[in-house]
Amino acid sequence: MLNADWLLFNASIFLTMTRRIAVVPGDGIGKEVIPNALEVVRATGASVEFTTFDWGADRYLIDGTTIPADGFHMLARDFDAVFVGALGDPRVPTNIHAKEILLGMRFKMDLYANVRPVRLLDASLCPLKNVTPDDINFTVIRENTEGVYMDMGGNFKMGMPEEVATQEDINTRKGVERVIHFAFKYARDNGRKKVMMSDKSNVMTYAGGLWQRVFKEVAQQYPEIQTQHMYVDALCLQMVRDPKSLDVIVTNNMFGDIVTDLAAALQGGLGMAASGNIHPGRTSMFEPVHGSAPPIAGKNMANPMGSILTAAMMLAHLGLNAEAQKIENAVLDAVREKKTTVDVGGSLGTKECAAWIAERVAK
Ligand code: ATP
Repeated sequence: MLNADWLLFNASIFLTMTRRIAVVPGDGIGKEVIPNALEVVRATGASVEFTTFDWGADRYLIDGTTIPADGFHMLARDFDAVFVGALGDPRVPTNIHAKEILLGMRFKMDLYANVRPVRLLDASLCPLKNVTPDDINFTVIRENTEGVYMDMGGNFKMGMPEEVATQEDINTRKGVERVIHFAFKYARDNGRKKVMMSDKSNVMTYAGGLWQRVFKEVAQQYPEIQTQHMYVDALCLQMVRDPKSLDVIVTNNMFGDIVTDLAAALQGGLGMAASGNIHPGRTSMFEPVHGSAPPIAGKNMANPMGSILTAAMMLAHLGLNAEAQKIENAVLDAVREKKTTVDVGGSLGTKECAAWIAERVAK
């Protein structure tokens, strides 16, 4: 077979093959929003096969399992993507199961880029005055495997008046370099014009210095993309005062965590925000930005749109762009027609909102 024919042959196999997706609804509202998001995906007719795992607080409280011994290996080997709801439950005060499952996936599957698109679907969702959907359309790329999340540090003289606590912020050249490359490639592949690196290098001089040097080096390989730097406190101000000026933002694990909650508020709240945990070429994991939200769990109140948009992001990542677009269009219709949950101004329950979107997708 000629090279071009071989490529076409491979591409057609990729387009027609069934994508295998591992599903972990987890805890709290995760158990409500994820099954509903799956119904929306099914309504697209996408060629996908779901396998659901019961990892979460209930399972942990029954037999102590957080994730089975070969769990991460199995996910990477047997699945094209992982779709997660939320992990966290007041009955497990240490949150050990959430750490082992969620941080375990990010760290052990080396999902180093946490991609959080921030898009305002409709002006009515934004708490800012006189803002249109054109004004809020940027993406935060959060480093996902290092920083203060590596759980390094310790306590000395615990409980005594002289107690000392340290928490290490780990930044490796490899880790910083690959996530900055990811941000530039993301900008290039998505028709974006600018990458901003945000840090606190005026205070965190060693870690910030590494980020600054690597950002300048990597930027030279993407001359068509503009660059910018902003301290993270200034970025928070900018996100509220002039969100239109933002394009692609790359930052460390903790700053990324914090600024994306603020960003979620700009697009209608935690119930609207989607995210992907990506390692290009490997099995990646997709989860809504919100957590398990214990106060509203089990009440059919949770907004399923964050999960539904996350599912669309996962389908697009798997090459199912038409199906992803159908879902995004249907969510936009639901917002415009106020077929939403209470948190974003509607009066529907979780199930009813998702069912409306699924029906619109299937039309
Ligand atoms: P976790 O410990 O798992 O992160 P959490 O309750 O601390 O959970 P979130 O789940 O992120 O944090 O949510 C904080 C609050 O935001 C919730 O209590 C709820 O009021 C609101 N919220 C979050 N997600 C949704 C959603 N999908 N729909 C409606 N409200 C939501």
